[in-house]
Amino acid sequence: MKLVFATGNKGKLREAREILEDLAEVVSPADLGILEDVAETGSTLKENSILKAEGYRKLCGMDCFADDTGLEVDALGGAPGIHAARYAQDIARRDGRPLPPDHDFSANIDALLSELAKHPGAPRTARFRSVVTLLLDGEMHFFEGTLEGRIAESRSGSGGFGYDPVFIADAYPDRSVAELPEEVKNAISHRGKALRAMAEWIKKNI
Ligand code: IMP
Repeated sequence: MKLVFATGNKGKLREAREILEDLAEVVSPADLGILEDVAETGSTLKENSILKAEGYRKLCGMDCFADDTGLEVDALGGAPGIHAARYAQDIARRDGRPLPPDHDFSANIDALLSELAKHPGAPRTARFRSVVTLLLDGEMHFFEGTLEGRIAESRSGSGGFGYDPVFIADAYPDRSVAELPEEVKNAISHRGKALRAMAEWIKKNI
């Protein structure tokens, strides 16, 4: 079976290929020469993962799966939530400052740390939450995974992507996720859990 993973993120692709190794050949839209983007205009993780799965299913003409991830920080009332990729923009807009680009990981971390600095003494607990939509033979199936942890006071490490330099997973409390080897991150990550649940489902049902 061949499946499109609706992502341009090479780390996510490696992770999915490792997990689906014996079950499916995983290709990206770029592997198929598809360079268009699908807009993430939904108001929940599930809606966005459906939009991506359906959008790339149409663009690529093949069965497809897509993930969408949010970061919930308790002291910020669950923000940035589904806006994790554009948090710095949201904060700049609120404060009337010029907007940084979309997916600017460093600006997003700066925004997160400065918003948390306004809540001294508040717990810094947080979690990543991923929803994966598998669109197979015209039917949709959903899988979820979470990673519990807390937000560090400052960055450390150079691995991973996104908020990894300031996210400390409960399972490895002495370092950030960006300091974990890729295979260790993949073994505990929100997306890894959702993708393994999808792999289990494929094993049982296909
Ligand atoms: P996406 O839906 O997977 O693109 O995730 C949205 C945003 O959440 C990304 O732009 C990252 O900032 C953040 N994010 C998603 N997954 C991870 C992760 O594994 N580590 C750190 N940040 C992540």
